[in-house]
Amino acid sequence: MKPFDYQRAALAATPTQRAVTHSSSSAVAPQFIAGGTTQIDLMKENVLRPNILLDLSPILSTQIEPHAGGLRIGAGVSNSDAAYHPEVMRRYPGLSEAILAGASPQIRNMASMGGNVLQKTRCSYYRDTAMPCNKREPGTGCSALTGINADHAILGGSPACITLYHGDMAVPLTALDAVVQTNGPGGARSIVMADLHRLPGDTPQNDTILQPGEIITSIDLPNFNGRSHYLKIRDRSSYAYARASCAVALEMDGPNIKTVRIALGSVAPIPWRAREAEAMLKGKAPSEALFREAARAAFADAKPLHYNAYKVPLGQNVMVRCLMETSGLMPMQGAPGTVFASSVGAVAGMTSGE
Ligand code: SF4
Repeated sequence: MKPFDYQRAALAATPTQRAVTHSSSSAVAPQFIAGGTTQIDLMKENVLRPNILLDLSPILSTQIEPHAGGLRIGAGVSNSDAAYHPEVMRRYPGLSEAILAGASPQIRNMASMGGNVLQKTRCSYYRDTAMPCNKREPGTGCSALTGINADHAILGGSPACITLYHGDMAVPLTALDAVVQTNGPGGARSIVMADLHRLPGDTPQNDTILQPGEIITSIDLPNFNGRSHYLKIRDRSSYAYARASCAVALEMDGPNIKTVRIALGSVAPIPWRAREAEAMLKGKAPSEALFREAARAAFADAKPLHYNAYKVPLGQNVMVRCLMETSGLMPMQGAPGTVFASSVGAVAGMTSGE
């Protein structure tokens, strides 16, 4: 690991000021750390090599509180505390399911909410400094294009990068239309979750639209009285990234769908909103045939690579199943010990209002 200078943020305004100061006087701007569950791994592997590591944990909010009819979750709240918060479990069970489907209890105890949504790609070439990678070193090439691309994007990739967004929590946050609050050199701003992550295009080194020195201060869950659910398909029942996942936020109007928001995970470089499918479902009565039609539409533009064509039927099936379970046409399974074990523990089968 490259030697670095560790500093602890002391005041709310300090990290931004410090970042600006250092980025103008140093070749490498400070990098931020909170829980450190991704950052430290990548520093040990020499993928990230900060000169200065600025610890935000002393200044980040660890509160979950009512806000505008919904909930405001401080960026410093641990993943575990968010997943088991009574109001998160009662009103946004899909978020609890997703958090509990990720990592391990030890990691969830350490990982912060702000850090989770900013986690780095799990592309193995990104983490192997002997291999070319445009995200790690722009201009060097993408090893995955002609390499082992079994866990790479079928939607939204570019000739420069075809990585996936592998995380769980950001998928239901996207379906719930959560809003990320930030603060930085340009002041405070609100970013709808679906706009936070960016497609790689020809600048894959930029994962999000955050500016240098800009930090996440909270995540706001909107006032939502519908049902939410997260379903994750993976190779083993714990401590594995999704091969494909889906989050649904559903509001019914009698027998028909009033609104539905669908986000897909591990099929694209960002949590992927299936907006065309959402429009197809609005105002209609739920049925498996309808959900299958919507799933086909969601993957109509998929561009499978040599090793990842399986993600097309898998992604369609997980989307159909998630919609079936959320709408009540199929019991929520989440059986522990199976690949459907995303709905683990006390939140299995919960939907708001029931
Ligand atoms: Fe790097 Fe992206 Fe290619 Fe992976 S897919 S090797 S992260 S450029």
